[in-house]
Amino acid sequence: SFEVLTIGGGPAGAAASIYAARKGIRTGVAAERFGGQVLDTMAIENFISVQETEGPKLATALEEHVKQYDVDIMNLQRAEALVPSSEPGGEHEVRFASGASLRAKTLILATGARWREMNVPGEAEYRNRGVAYCPHCDGPLFKGKRVAVIGGGNSGVEAAIDLAGIVAHVTLFEFMDELRADAVLQKKLRSLPNVEIISGARTTEINGDGNRVTGLSYEERASGELKQVELEGVFVQIGLVPNTEWLKDSPIELSERGEIITDAHGMTSVPGIFAAGDVTTVPYKQIVIAVGAGATAALGAFDYLIRQ
Ligand code: FAD
Repeated sequence: SFEVLTIGGGPAGAAASIYAARKGIRTGVAAERFGGQVLDTMAIENFISVQETEGPKLATALEEHVKQYDVDIMNLQRAEALVPSSEPGGEHEVRFASGASLRAKTLILATGARWREMNVPGEAEYRNRGVAYCPHCDGPLFKGKRVAVIGGGNSGVEAAIDLAGIVAHVTLFEFMDELRADAVLQKKLRSLPNVEIISGARTTEINGDGNRVTGLSYEERASGELKQVELEGVFVQIGLVPNTEWLKDSPIELSERGEIITDAHGMTSVPGIFAAGDVTTVPYKQIVIAVGAGATAALGAFDYLIRQ
């Protein structure tokens, strides 16, 4: 059994494992796919002190750094259930799809999140070749170009406002007849000269030339008419889904959106169980933020252990 067991091997889980191991305590990390979302990323230009890198390269660097320490790495292990200790200070148990189960005095949940996809033709094919999900990450790659934002909720409208300052033109597509974002955001959006809003539109396909995105096809829902726009980028903003399905029968308190609620030390509603990164209610989902949160959770876990 472990003193600290981290579930998830993305930036948050890697940072948590390193910080825990550096305290000289028995540390393990189990992940379905070590590297996490970073593996699906190409250019990364905002991980401070690393001017430019690529996702798979950063994922390897994270793993290499963890391997410098005495950490038990268990890759390709998908957690399916969490059974908290029945008495205070006892061991928590995590059960895996493989049938294995692990016990630890403290847990750090760092299972991340995933972007909701539209599931239309061209989306997967042109991912990282014009199809993007993170305006903070990829916005600058579209400087001076035309882009679409899919989704008229708060994140879509925020993304459109953000991108309008960088790119040549933004077309915001919303499925419903009205945008769902807060009124103040909508007002700001409508004040921008290089933004067009198309509501009541269903995206049907992302078009490309085999190499990069060249446009987008949509159905005008009222008329059923099919239309096309030419552009170089599509930002899909229809939701970020936290990977917490496996916690639904546990007592860990989740927000309305299914994100794990933590305190300033990264502790969840269950003593001894901590969480970090995109899986939590942390407001901005970024690598540098997940890494910091992983460090916080590990230090929080250490603090908890020395008080037992
Ligand atoms: P994740 O990276 O999501 O890692 C989660 C880990 O948990 C993985 O190892 C996963 O396999 C594992 N896991 C999930 N469920 C289970 C389970 N049930 N059992 C066991 N393990 C599980 N951020 C930036 O700062 N800059 C960028 O340029 C940037 N570009 C991006 C581009 C794309 C295409 C995407 C998708 C994201 C990008 N991001 C970027 C966001 C960034 O990748 C995330 O904020 C960051 O990876 C979050 O780290 P995390 O450790 O919290 O979660």
